[in-house]
Amino acid sequence: MNLENVQEDVSGERSPAALRAGRSKAAHGEVIHYAGGVASQLPNIVAFKFGGSSLLGADRMLHAAGLVQSAARLSNVAVVVSAMKGVTDHLLSIARALASGKLAHARHEAELVLDLHLDVLFELQLSEQESLRVRHELQLLGRDLLHEVPVHGRVAAGAELFDRLASFGERFSARLFAAALEKSGVPAVPVTSSEFVLTCDTFRDAQPHLEQTRLRGRDVLLPLLEAGIVPVVTGFIGATPDGRITTLGRNSSDFSGAIVAHVVNADELVIWTDVDGIYTANPTESAEAHLLHELSYDEARALAASGAKVLHAKVLPLAAETEMVVWVRNTFNPQARGTRIGSPRVPETSPHGGAA
Ligand code: ADP
Ligand code: ASP
Ligand code: MG
Repeated sequence: MNLENVQEDVSGERSPAALRAGRSKAAHGEVIHYAGGVASQLPNIVAFKFGGSSLLGADRMLHAAGLVQSAARLSNVAVVVSAMKGVTDHLLSIARALASGKLAHARHEAELVLDLHLDVLFELQLSEQESLRVRHELQLLGRDLLHEVPVHGRVAAGAELFDRLASFGERFSARLFAAALEKSGVPAVPVTSSEFVLTCDTFRDAQPHLEQTRLRGRDVLLPLLEAGIVPVVTGFIGATPDGRITTLGRNSSDFSGAIVAHVVNADELVIWTDVDGIYTANPTESAEAHLLHELSYDEARALAASGAKVLHAKVLPLAAETEMVVWVRNTFNPQARGTRIGSPRVPETSPHGGAA
C-alpha cells in the first residue's frame, strides 16, 4: 500500500494521508507546503488507533503496519491497538467459566488464546531471531494468563479478575503489532497502558484521571517518539494507583486512542476501522445509510450516544475539549477520505484544507 498514490474520493477532498503526501517531515509548527500548493502546518504527531478487525491475523497486521509506515515518513506516529477481533469476548467467557467453577474448561480455552497468538506470530514470518524474541514475550504473557486460570483450587472471580483477564487481548496484540511494524522497517515497541493510564477502581468501567495520566504518559511516550520509535500502546486498559489492572469499558480502545493523542499532543487522531467512516446508520444493516464527511463534536457525540458503535462516545468530550481533529477511516479502503470530526475548517489555515 502506497499512501502517496492515494486517490481522491467522491467528495472531491483528499484524505489526510494524501494531504500529507507532498510534505516533508518538519518541526512542529513549521509552515510548509504540500503538492496542492496550499500553505499548511505539518501535524508533527499523529495518533493511529486500530480496531480488532484491522488486526485480525498476520496479513491484516502487516497491512495496517504499512499504513503506519507511510505516515511515519512524514510524522511521528503513536499507535493504539485493540485486541484481535473476538479475543476480548473469548477472555470474558473464560472469566465466566472460572466464576462458575468450570476450571478445566477455562484452562483449555486460555491455552487456545495463547495458541491463537502464537499462530499469528508464525504467520508473520519474522526472521528467526526476531521470531524467537517475540515468541518468548508471548509465552511470558501466556504464562501470566495461565496463572490466572488455575486447574485446581478456588478463584475469586469478581470484576477485578474479569478486567485482569480481559487485558490480555490488547497485551498480546500490542506485542504482535510492534513485531509487524519492525518487520515493515518501522522501529516499534509495545507499551502496556497500565504503566501510565491511571484510573479509579470501578472495574469494567474505570474512569481515567486525565491530568495524572497525561503527566505519566509523557514520560513514557515522548522519549520513544523523540528516538523515532513508534509506541504501540494497548487500548482498553489502565490501572488503579495501587497497580491493579482496570478496563475502561467495552469498545473503549477508541477512548484510549484519544487519551494517547492527548498525552502526546497529537494534532490528530485517526480511528482505523472496517467501514469508510461514520454513516447516518449502521452501513452493515441499513441500505439507506450514507457516509458523513464532516461532523462537529456535538454531532458526533449525538451519533455515538445513539449507539453508533463505530466511535466510542467518550472520545468526543475529550476531543472537543482539546480541539483534537478525529478522523474515522477504513483500514481496508485507505483511499477513502473518511469522516472528519472537528471544528469547522477555515480553508486557508486548516492543515487539511481540502484539495483547493
Ligand atoms: P473496531 O473493531 O474497528 O473498533 P467496531 O466494530 O467497534 O470496529 O465498529 C465498527 C462497526 O461499527 C462497523 O463495522 C459498523 O458495523 C458499526 N456501525 C454501527 N453504527 C455505525 C455508523 N453509524 N457508521 C459506521 N459504522 C457503524
Ligand atoms: N478489546 C476491547 C473490547 O472488545 C476494547 C476495544 O476493542 O475497543 O471491548
Ligand atoms: Mg470499536
